[in-house]
Amino acid sequence: MSDFRDRCRDYGLEPVVVVFTREQLVERWGDACVFCSTGSFDQVDHRLPVAAGGPHTIENVVPVCTSCNEAKRQLYDMAAIHEFRARVVEVRGVLVSRGEFGKTSKTCDDDGIAT
Ligand SMILES: [Zn+2]
Repeated sequence: MSDFRDRCRDYGLEPVVVVFTREQLVERWGDACVFCSTGSFDQVDHRLPVAAGGPHTIENVVPVCTSCNEAKRQLYDMAAIHEFRARVVEVRGVLVSRGEFGKTSKTCDDDGIAT
């Protein structure tokens, strides 16, 4: 898995990272792939894609298995992306008001999960 920050730079975007733990993600989504619900939590997937400016926040990340992540391009439907984009804008507003927007941490792994 390529590093989130490197991917942002490849797209010419400023990386937005709000660090979370794997436990927080499991609490929110469960310890299984959100797409097939049988695969294991192998990787994280950005619901609003990184290429579309999706931030690396717990709001925008879901646990997925390797095979679903590889197939995710086909699973995305644009209407869902647009609907979710609106939510991300809302979430960003909340983070800005808390002073958390754009916070970064050096202490996370390649998936941006706090270590
Ligand atoms: Zn899966």
